[in-house]
Amino acid sequence: MKWYQYQTDSLARKLAVNMKQGLTEQQAAERLRKFGPNVLEEGQQVKWYMLLFRQFQDFMVLVLLAATLVSGLLGEYIDAIAIMAIVLVNGILGFFQERKAEKSLSKLKELSAPVAYCLRGNEWKKTPSSELVVGDVVKVSSGDRISADLRLVEVRGLEVEESALTGESLPVAKNNQPLSEEHVELGDQSNMAFTGTLVTRGNGIGVVVGTGMDTAMGQIASMLVSTERIPTPLERKLEELGKILIVTALLLTLFVVVIGVLQGHPIYQMFLAGVSLAVAAIPEGLPAIVTVALSLGVQRMIKKKAIVRKLSAVETLGCASVICSDKTGTMTENQMTVKHIFTMDDALYVTGEGYDVSGSFFDNGNEIELSQLPDVRNMLLYGNLCNHAKLVKKDDAFALDGDPTEGAIVVAGRKARIDEQTLSGWTIIHEIPFDSDRKRMTVVVEDNHGKRLSITKGAPDVLLPRTSMVKTVARVKPMQKKEEQAISSSISSMADEALRTIAICYKPLSNTEDFTDYTLEKDLIFAGVVGMIDPPRKEVKAAISECRAAGIKTVMITGDHAKTAEAIAKQLELIPDKGLVMEGSQVSNLSDDQLDDLIDDIYVFARVTPQHKLKIVQSFQRKGHVVAMTGDGVNDAPAIKASDIGVSMGRSGTDVAKESSSLILLDDNFATIKAAIHEGRNIYDNIRKFIRYLLASNVGEILVMLFAMLLALPLPLVPVQILWVNLVTDGLPAMALGLDQSEGDVLKRAPRKPTEGIFSRGLGFKIISRGILIGIVTLMAFIWAYDGTTEGLVYAQTVAFSTLVMAQLIHVFDCRSEKSVFSRNPFQNLYLVGAVVSSVLLLLVVLYYEPLQPVFHTTDLVLYDWGMILALSAVPTLFFGFTKK
Ligand code: ATP
Repeated sequence: MKWYQYQTDSLARKLAVNMKQGLTEQQAAERLRKFGPNVLEEGQQVKWYMLLFRQFQDFMVLVLLAATLVSGLLGEYIDAIAIMAIVLVNGILGFFQERKAEKSLSKLKELSAPVAYCLRGNEWKKTPSSELVVGDVVKVSSGDRISADLRLVEVRGLEVEESALTGESLPVAKNNQPLSEEHVELGDQSNMAFTGTLVTRGNGIGVVVGTGMDTAMGQIASMLVSTERIPTPLERKLEELGKILIVTALLLTLFVVVIGVLQGHPIYQMFLAGVSLAVAAIPEGLPAIVTVALSLGVQRMIKKKAIVRKLSAVETLGCASVICSDKTGTMTENQMTVKHIFTMDDALYVTGEGYDVSGSFFDNGNEIELSQLPDVRNMLLYGNLCNHAKLVKKDDAFALDGDPTEGAIVVAGRKARIDEQTLSGWTIIHEIPFDSDRKRMTVVVEDNHGKRLSITKGAPDVLLPRTSMVKTVARVKPMQKKEEQAISSSISSMADEALRTIAICYKPLSNTEDFTDYTLEKDLIFAGVVGMIDPPRKEVKAAISECRAAGIKTVMITGDHAKTAEAIAKQLELIPDKGLVMEGSQVSNLSDDQLDDLIDDIYVFARVTPQHKLKIVQSFQRKGHVVAMTGDGVNDAPAIKASDIGVSMGRSGTDVAKESSSLILLDDNFATIKAAIHEGRNIYDNIRKFIRYLLASNVGEILVMLFAMLLALPLPLVPVQILWVNLVTDGLPAMALGLDQSEGDVLKRAPRKPTEGIFSRGLGFKIISRGILIGIVTLMAFIWAYDGTTEGLVYAQTVAFSTLVMAQLIHVFDCRSEKSVFSRNPFQNLYLVGAVVSSVLLLLVVLYYEPLQPVFHTTDLVLYDWGMILALSAVPTLFFGFTKK
């Protein structure tokens, strides 16, 4: 028998599960052990030895190894072994760097791994999808990506988009009825929901019948596209730059070699020097350092509660000039409490905070028992029936399971003594679920005596046009101008107080009456309105003002009432005096050009649907902005995708929103976006810092050799020294620059232009000018020390080598600031201090440790030499420190 043919009870028996309580944790653990985790097997991973091997595949490294081999055959054993050792260490370091980058990337993947809402041991809990087993009872709702094959047992307006499996892009409606046919195509299995498909509407409960490779998706898993990482724009730019640098370095090196040979240096010696120089000058480690810097930055972001899903977002974050943010939950706490209640005859104030169920009702300052006001109590009862939120007791307090808006109504109900007992007399027999487009929700409920009621709750301005009667204490009467005005003015005054308003309407149905979704939401009877407070998150006001200082405009986009939104925007100081509030309906009515003309003055978009969000993003983009857009619902995905930085919510967001976003806020908090932008700008700054350091060092290394050749001097540096500089001096400090703290003004400058090149804002000049000076001082040190004799050459080369190393190690502090070396405390970045100190120690080792002296062609230096070396090597940094160029 096929899963879709089973009746629910035989299904439960077959799967050995109690549908009301779910599997026990023990059963689940056993099944997990037996059948394995619920994951689709991934494509081939790169093996570690392949990764290691790749480090030595670089063309120039191969040439160097060949050259070394030749020198070994010619009897230069020490040089050959030293060079081999350096190449090996370099390769191993590169290997670890790449491994680290890869590991942190896969850790990120784990962090954003999907979870399922699953019934275990009579309790609904969030379980990692990978731990689902056959027999688990799972709840799915709008926006979820289904994580195992499910046989549906309960559905409420459930629609699923199955294009990943069937190619059909229109969502299909699901039900829980067994099918009788023997063979039914996937697309027609209306009581099944499959791994990898998307819930676009409604909700439902299903029992897991297949996991991992044993699902419909698993069977076609071989067709799944591999999840290869796409390089970020910066990485791509660097790749292109790398090619230019390789050609330049090779040409210069060739030039050095040719001149050297023309001046009578032995060909073999010049060849080895040339190849070493080329290996040193080509910044082959740059892409790996960039990836490490990006992924370490990403880990710092995780500490600040932001998960980057796409590395490219790190770069784009620094360019953001507009943040379009949801209000509810992102700028506010999403902890709603009903404060005001309005019915045709009463206007009450409700006390109590949050989900604490103690609180009372007041009418003009007098406490009132709700049993005296049956209309108000009934309105709250309806609000509780058209509701999925539940209060669960945790320790001594209540916590909410469900939507906070509905939770607020549940809490208000408790204050009126409406509890689960009261509600248990009613059953929901039909539902039109809430979504942000419709801004309303309807249920048909039936009590034990067969009495039926249709209840609709939602945004008042959406419900009022569908309402034709009002409930007063005396009777149900037609809604007329007077009633309409009374309702509107109460809504308006609640909204002015920043309250979110929900209208509750109903209509009796006879149990023989046919109904359709359309007729249910027509000719309603108005029961009342509740106004609930949702306080702004306390850190948001400061975050908005910091964003403003950083040249970033914050725009509130909300489904809420315009006045409520405006009132909250004012509390947050988000909207300036001349700032405008626009409603979604106006967005629809304006042409693109008209919207573009106005958009810079708009700070709040209210009563929007997800479709408006797309139009808003595109308008900002046409005005040249780089837009970050938040979203949580299934319909927000297109806008999130279209924005430059799609942001989704870790707690309340749906899988669909998360999948289309590049940044996930673990705490759903607006302030976290600001923190991520701060970090994004810092990461980019740090990348600029080490690019500047590495390239300036390389320019210095090439120039000192070039100048020496032009002046007909002997080689100031031997190949193994050049390679040592490349390994030690260039390696560690560059990594430490990647971990540098941000400069004080990161959030005080305007956003970076996305079109900006790596060398813009004076970086190119800095690289060349510092490089030239480093080359010159090294050469000066060489000339100063060289006495023209062969014996004196080793001493002069040692001085030149030390000067080059020290000049770079001092220059690294200059790279920490785009302003001047004196603008920052050099001891702030302890990694850098550590890297510099260890580089100096390593230098001293190769200088003074006798067994290494013949290997590195070095000799002892005295204090006097050091005085000269330090004086010369400080020149490049001090000179530009004072000239501030
Ligand atoms: P955002 O999160 O975009 O800032 P929002 O959460 O206020 O906005 P929606 O969730 O789309 O936006 O809600 C829009 C309106 O729909 C609300 O102002 C409210 O009147 C109504 N509403 C919200 N939740 C429910 C619900 N569960 N049932 C019925 N109506 C609801």
